[in-house]
Parts: sequence; structure tokens; C-alpha cells
Amino acid sequence: MTAASSPDQAGGQPGAGLAAAGLTPGRPIVFRNATVLTMDDAHHVLHGGDVLITGDRITAIGPGLQVPEGTAEIDATGGILMPGMIDTHRHMWQTAMRGYGADWTLTQYFVWNYLQWGKSFRPQDIYAGNLLSAIEAIDAGVTTTVDWSHGLQTTDHADAAVDALEEVPGRFILAYGNIQQGPWEWSAAPEFRDFVNRRFSSGNDMLGFQMAFDIPGNPEFLERAAFEVARDLGAPVTTHAGVRGATGDDGIRLMYDNGFMTPSTVYVHAATLSADSYHRIAATGGSASVSTESEQNAGQGYPPTWRLREHGIPVSLSMDTSVWWSADLFSAMRATLSADRSREHLEAHNRDETVTHHYLRAEQVVDWATRGGAKALGLDSLTGSLEPGKKADVVLIKNDASPVMFPLLHPYGHVVFQAGRGDVHTVVVNGRVVKYGHRLVDTDLGRARQAIEQTVDYLQGELGPEAWNEGMHPDIPEARVLDNPYTYTYTDAEGPGPAS
Ligand SMILES: [Zn+2]
Repeated sequence: MTAASSPDQAGGQPGAGLAAAGLTPGRPIVFRNATVLTMDDAHHVLHGGDVLITGDRITAIGPGLQVPEGTAEIDATGGILMPGMIDTHRHMWQTAMRGYGADWTLTQYFVWNYLQWGKSFRPQDIYAGNLLSAIEAIDAGVTTTVDWSHGLQTTDHADAAVDALEEVPGRFILAYGNIQQGPWEWSAAPEFRDFVNRRFSSGNDMLGFQMAFDIPGNPEFLERAAFEVARDLGAPVTTHAGVRGATGDDGIRLMYDNGFMTPSTVYVHAATLSADSYHRIAATGGSASVSTESEQNAGQGYPPTWRLREHGIPVSLSMDTSVWWSADLFSAMRATLSADRSREHLEAHNRDETVTHHYLRAEQVVDWATRGGAKALGLDSLTGSLEPGKKADVVLIKNDASPVMFPLLHPYGHVVFQAGRGDVHTVVVNGRVVKYGHRLVDTDLGRARQAIEQTVDYLQGELGPEAWNEGMHPDIPEARVLDNPYTYTYTDAEGPGPAS
């Protein structure tokens, strides 16, 4: 057995730390002495536990494991070992414009992307955004991401999206969409079928496929044709549902009446729906992808977990887009737990009551960020928990240089409220170490940076300086400061006193 060296000793080159640690491909790996959040059915937590990975699978979990000769060892003392996190809805292409829309509302986002500039994105721009986003995901311990890819104006764009996803060693699902056409149009194109046949083979659990489109609720229900294509392809549908001003109960009713609500359907946001629509989602076995930072900032509706749990609707978490906010699931868990409790208090206060015991626990949001995502995507037999036989998608949260990593008393609470993406020490996807000692392994960030720079240069040129600036800095509405009946005047050297 070879003991892993500390990151400081591991050298400056990406991958150098891996070799120094003996973490060469094909060798079994054992994490030693971790607080292990298994996220299995019983949510077993092991203190001082080991996890053994052989090939692409987890093969044993327990204290003081006997391991095969030649197993490489990672000292996880003081750290938390958990399943790789799962983001069920992210517009990865928009990462090329990271942070640009920090001050947007949903209306400004729609105008910029859907009406004005989204169509400017070329295949290489989709590629650049996806590449950076995919790298960012594995760096943050997000081992599975749904690329809600609604900028695919042509199949050249789609090929570019998949090219990027295939270059990064994470688990991805391309959710194909195109906001520049109706789904009944793009899904009927022969080249779309050809693309699906070319790029997606059955049995590849590193790259999955879904169809992504919205149902605004037009009674003609032209989306029927796209649902039929999805059914024909065996592809789950993911749809922004319950988005104030865009989609609502009419869309849900059309889907329900026409038999297109299935257990594999993912309802993104699901924030402004009637009780009747929530009942229909629950009865048909679908799940909601909650993007709390998005709902809080953009205005789709209040983050709905407080209502979803009343209806027994399964929840997964997502970050939506880093054109506005962050893209790691630590932020998603924190925001979601805070929003749910905030609403619980507010509702109680409106009844002149006090909440003395929180209903939603940190443990539950860690479940939503891991197992909940796996269930939503039909990947529960492969990933989402640390159990022998499952694929080895594993995250070690450990940071010996951080004053925030001890004491480690409540591990779920620690993940949700204390840790952050900078504390992600090691990430394993499908048995392969993709991050070690806080550094990405064999990842050419320079190439991603270059691709992004070219896209930003190009888009700046397309928009021109004025539109670029206006897009980033929308007008601030006039705010009125209330008249104050009190005045306070400094009367003399002795200090302030009421005005005479
Ligand atoms: Zn979205």
C-alpha cells in the first residue's frame, strides 16, 4: 500500500500530485478514516470509516478495511466522504457569460437570451461554455450534471455541446433544446434524429440524453409532437414548469390529459402551481428540480420545497445558470434549507404563531443533492449513494488548512452550512480520480480560458459597447424613501437631542 502525500508535496503540475500519491489509473483506492455519509436508504453515517474503490465501483465500506495488495490510500482523517453531487438542471452553455446577468430579473434574462442575443451563439461558443461549466462541475464535486441545453439552434451546436461534455471526465446528460424554434419543429428534423443516433449509444452511463422544452399552455398543444418523439426515443422530458409569467397549470393539465406526465419527467422550478397541479405531478411519479438561488433572484416563484413536501413530490437540486449566480451544490443546499425555513417562519408569523421545531433538516437537503438527483434521473442503481456495487462517484470534503473544518460535530450541517467548494479535496467519477489535493487532475484550464476569451470577444463585438453595457447594467427603478415624522438635530457640543 502507498500512502498519499500531502498536496503541498505533490508538485505544481496537474496530475503530478496524483502520480506522487500512487493514484495511477487502474489501481484500487481506499479512503481511510473518514466521516462517511453513505446516503443509503437508512442514511447510515460511519465515523472513522473506510471506502474501497476497485475499477469503476465501490467494493467495500467499513472500519479498518482489508484491501488488496497495491491499493493506493487517501488519508481522509478529519474529512467528510459523500456521494458525488447531482445537478439536475443547468444551462451550461451560458457559462461563457459567467456573472454577466448578476442584476437581471427573469424578464431581462428572457429578453437578452431568447429575443436578442441567444441566437448569436455559434457552435464554438456553446462548446466554450459547456467546457468551462463541465470542468467547474467536477471541481465542485458535482459528478453528474444535466446540461439543459436550449441554445442548440443547429445540430452543429449540439455536436459542439457533446464534444465538450465528452472531454471532461464527469457524468453528463444532454437535455436537448432550442429556444429559437418550437419543440415540434426541431424534434421533427431528420438531422435531430441522426444526431441522437450518432452521439448516444445505449449502455454509456457517462453520457445520457433527455429532451428539454417548455409548455406555455396553448390549447392547440403543438408540443404533443415533441412528446411523441421523446416517447419514441425513450427520452425523459425536462420542462420549466410553474414559472410565473411563462408556464403554469395549463401546461400541466395538457400534459396530464394527453398522458405525457411520467415518473421520468422532471419539472424545473415548479414554483407557482396550484394544489391540483402538484397533485397531478405526485400522482404520476415525477419530480421537481428546485433551483433556489434562481427562484429567489429571477422571480419564477418562491422556492417551492415547503409546498412540494406537503404533496410528497420528490425533490432534486439544481443551479440553473452561472450567467447570474453560483454553480455549486453547496450554495444550492444552503439556499434551499434557508428558503424553506424562512417560509416556514413567515407562514407561522402570519398566523401569529412561532416555529419551535424546524421541519426540514440539513440531512434532507444533502439527500436531495445526491440521492434525490439520482432518483430523478433514473440513475439510482448506479450513483447517488456510497454502497458496495454502485459506481464510484465520490467526494472527499477535507481541508486541513481551514479553520472551518473542525470541530466536525454534525456532518450534514457541516456540509450544508460550513463547507464550500474550496474544501473539495478529492473527486472520483466512475472510479477515476479527477481532483486530488484540491487540484483538478489532467485538466487543461488554459484551453478552456482561451475558448471562453474568444467567445467573450466575439459577443462583445456582436453587441457593441452600448448594448453590452446596457445588458449588464439594467436600469434601477426609482425607489421612494418614506417620509419620516421624526427629526433629530445636533443642537450643541453636548451631542444630539430632539429638535426643539
Ligand atoms: Zn432553467
